[in-house]
Amino acid sequence: MKSNQPQRRQFLKIGASALAMIPVMVVAGRSEAATNAAMRSALKYQNKPEGDKSCSTCMQFVAPSGCKILAGDTEVSPKGYCTAWVKKA
Ligand code: SF4
Repeated sequence: MKSNQPQRRQFLKIGASALAMIPVMVVAGRSEAATNAAMRSALKYQNKPEGDKSCSTCMQFVAPSGCKILAGDTEVSPKGYCTAWVKKA
């Protein structure tokens, strides 16, 4: 019986550490979201389509929310549009 106690303690420590990491992971996930404001402005990015042109039909779009032109931007909407739009082949 006594020999199981160190293993149980170790298990509880690992479980407590895992629980403590949950808020850190949530915060880290939020910090990954970013926009490239300079490029958005230069290319007149908008969060709505321009007629039948939208990011989801653009060859530069990287699903689910990226763009090859807007480097580092992780908030590109599939329904967005900018002046660099090029029809997906
Ligand atoms: S329309 Fe502009 S922002 Fe959208 S995917 Fe194409 S290049 Fe990127």
